[in-house]
Formats: sequence, structure tokens, C-alpha cells
Amino acid sequence: MNILILGGGAAGFFAAIQSKRTFPKSTVTILEKSPTVLAKVKVSGGGRCNVTHACFDPRLLSENYPRGSKALLGPLTRFGPQDTMDWFSSRGVPLKIESDNRVFPVSDSSQTIIDCLFGEAESLGVRVWTECPVESVRKDDTSGQFMIQLKSGVEHSCDRFILASGSSRQGYAFAEALGHRIEPPVPSLFTFTIPDPVLTALSGLSVQNAHLRIAGVKSLSQKGPLLITHWGLSGPAVLKLSAWGARHLYDTSYKATLLVNWLPELTEEDLIDDLKAYQTAHMKKAVFTKSPFPEIPVRLWRYLVAKACIADAQTWKEIPVKIVGTLARLLNQSTMIVTAKGPFKEEFVTCGGVSLKEVNFKTMESTRCPGLYFAGEVLDVDGVTGGFNFQNAWATGWIAGSSVGG
Ligand SMILES: Cc1cc2nc3c(=O)[nH]c(=O)nc-3n(C[C@H](O)[C@H](O)[C@H](O)COP(=O)(O)OP(=O)(O)OC[C@H]3O[C@@H](n4cnc5c(N)ncnc54)[C@H](O)[C@@H]3O)c2cc1C
Repeated sequence: MNILILGGGAAGFFAAIQSKRTFPKSTVTILEKSPTVLAKVKVSGGGRCNVTHACFDPRLLSENYPRGSKALLGPLTRFGPQDTMDWFSSRGVPLKIESDNRVFPVSDSSQTIIDCLFGEAESLGVRVWTECPVESVRKDDTSGQFMIQLKSGVEHSCDRFILASGSSRQGYAFAEALGHRIEPPVPSLFTFTIPDPVLTALSGLSVQNAHLRIAGVKSLSQKGPLLITHWGLSGPAVLKLSAWGARHLYDTSYKATLLVNWLPELTEEDLIDDLKAYQTAHMKKAVFTKSPFPEIPVRLWRYLVAKACIADAQTWKEIPVKIVGTLARLLNQSTMIVTAKGPFKEEFVTCGGVSLKEVNFKTMESTRCPGLYFAGEVLDVDGVTGGFNFQNAWATGWIAGSSVGG
């Protein structure tokens, strides 16, 4: 059996290794257009590679995929984060779980992951052909073979074809040519541009647990750490919101009204009570000098105080009840105008890809074109930040590789 895999990324390598392990007599070849393989692994996690996420309940784990959560439940049950961790550690790459449950190599270097994948492929006899851009793919109806034409004009044939081309537009076109529907690709996991110079002057400030909501879309809200940047807002809460809202925000050209609750554990009424109590205890103090809430850094507090039109010199004694209400409202629901996507930070993935309805997730085989398999980001699957995207690549690559020779 001749198995060709298009794409030398995380999914392609995992599929190739598992194909060769499961079907040792087959010839397994990775075709990669770039001079180097595993380029995204190299830059991932700020060069540390966030390999997976330490969430060992497949159902809970699957909730981290805005696209694909239902379809992935089976694959994540069969090859979950524990399997990923065992896979790498049994091959000499110990992993560690950080306090937020992200999993990294103990080395803190993505190169150890690359060396492991490459070494394993090599020792099994997987052929890795770099600088081999695939130009077109078709299936010969008579022979049942896939005909893979390279840009150089050379044509290769194979019995089984695994498409692991990531978010490449060409990869989607190959899937389309073989009868698949593509959910239109749009960016996911991005930050927000908010052109408010007073806010962006606070760049570097963070709060541990903010609640964000896109005004007018009830379902689009997220909680988590929030970071103020020199272009607007970032941090896990923003990235998660961008992932769940990827399509909506694309449709609005990334224009939205964002409502920020800086203290989501307290209601507006609680806030009014707490502010009044603080006012009574600190009558002679200027409002802007100290934040009444330990979660709110003083510079952020001053930003909110200024928004409430309280002058720097004003003491708590001078603040009427109405203004206390305004402060509570600002803490509970600051309105920010998002005008664009921010530049991406650590991670970036694509929402959209091969429609999941046409793939059998027990084998990763196409239901449209027998002998064609899919793995990784080429599918309409994407996770939030935290190691979920690689986990998709490992799980679907492993299943495709386990089934491809059957
Ligand atoms: C900066 C950055 C950081 C990230 N960090 C993390 C992280 O820490 N944790 C995490 O879980 N996820 C992370 N991600 C997401 C993760 O990298 C991807 O989800 C994952 O790499 C997808 O793997 P893949 O194999 O499906 O696709 P890819 O890694 O994109 O691989 C596809 C391969 O196919 C090749 N290819 C495409 N078209 C052709 C063609 N016509 N001919 C030949 N070859 C072709 C490409 O060159 C590429 O090498 C990050 C992404 C980015 C951009």
C-alpha cells in the first residue's frame, strides 16, 4: 500500500507515524511544500509549544472547540491529552502541566517536539519530501488511485491520500476538487483594536477575571484574564471571545461594541453598596488615589474615575450618590468600541475548512471519496487557545493513521 500525506505539519507527521506503525509494510510519504517541516510547531507557544491541555474528560475537553466539539468527542476519547503526554514522554520528551493546565515540554523548547516527531518518522522509515509543492489532486476512477501532481510537473500516484494541509487555501481547493464542501475560512483567535488612547496608555495592565460580552449578541460572552495592550485588549478572555465570535465578527468587519465587566463576581447593587461603604470610611481621601477593590489596579481605577468625570482633587465626601452609581456601572459594564482585529499574538488559527458532515470521525475517511482521509486544521475544527489545536492535530492524525490501511 502506498500512502501519501500532504502536509508536513503536526497532523501530517502524526498521521504518517501512526500509518507506518499500524501498517508497517506500506510506503508512507509526506509531501511538504516548504524547505522545512513542522514550521508552526517551531513557533508555537512562543517557541515553547503548548502541546496539549491537561483536561482529561473528553466531554469537557470538547467544549473548548467553537467548531467541531461534537465531531471531536469520539477522537478525543480515543486519543486524548493523556495519550499525547504518554506518547511524547515515552519517546524521551517529558512534559509538564502549568498552573493554567497548559502542557509544555519540560525543555520549554518546541525543538524537542520537532526532533521527537522527525526522529520517530525517520526511524520508522517514513519518507519526508520537502520542497514538494502539490499543484493538483484527482482520483482516477478506473484504477481508484489518487494522482498527485507536483508544481515541478512530476506526478505521483497513491492508494490512500491523507490531506493534512492546515489552513492552506490550496488544500481546501484539493478537498473541493475531490467532492467536499468547504466552510468559508475566516480568522479565529485574535485580539481587539480599541482606539481609546486613554485605555491604551494603560498597556501592560491586566485583571485576572473579567467578563466580556459583545453587545446585542447574547451568546457571545467570555470570562477570564484580560490584558490591556498598546492597541486595545488581549488576553485569554479576548482570544476565547474572538474564537466563539469568529464568524459574527468577520461579518461585522470586526466592528463591535464590547461590554467589559471588571468585577463579574459582584452585581451592580453589590458594587454600589461596597462603594458607599468605602466612601463612608474614606471621606477625606481623593477618590482617584486608591482603588477600593484589590482586583482593580490603581491605574485602571483612575481610568474609570476619569470616565465618571471625577476630578483628581475630588474627595469621596464630594461625590454624590448618582456618581457612585456611575462608578458602579463603569465597573460592571464599561463600553468599548472595537474597530478592527488586533495583530495576532501567540496563536492564530482558522475557523472553517472541510465540512464535518462529510467525514467519518471513526476513521477520518471522507464519506464522499473513499481512500481520502483528513487530519488537523484542514477540517472545520478549531479550538480556543491553550493546546487544544495541537490536540486536534494529534487525535485526528492518529485516527487517520490507524485506519488508512484498512
Ligand atoms: C504563531 C502560532 C502559534 C501557535 N501556537 C499553538 C500552541 O502553542 N498550541 C496549539 O495547540 N496550537 C497552536 N497553534 C495552532 C497550531 O499550530 C495549528 O493548529 C496546527 O499547527 C495545525 O497543524 P496542521 O498539521 O493541521 O497544519 P499545519 O501545521 O499548518 O501544516 C500544514 C502543512 O501543509 C503544508 N502544505 C500546505 N499546502 C501544501 C501544498 N500544496 N503542497 C505541499 N504542502 C502543503 C504547509 O506548508 C504546512 O507545513 C499556533 C499557531 C500559530 C500560527
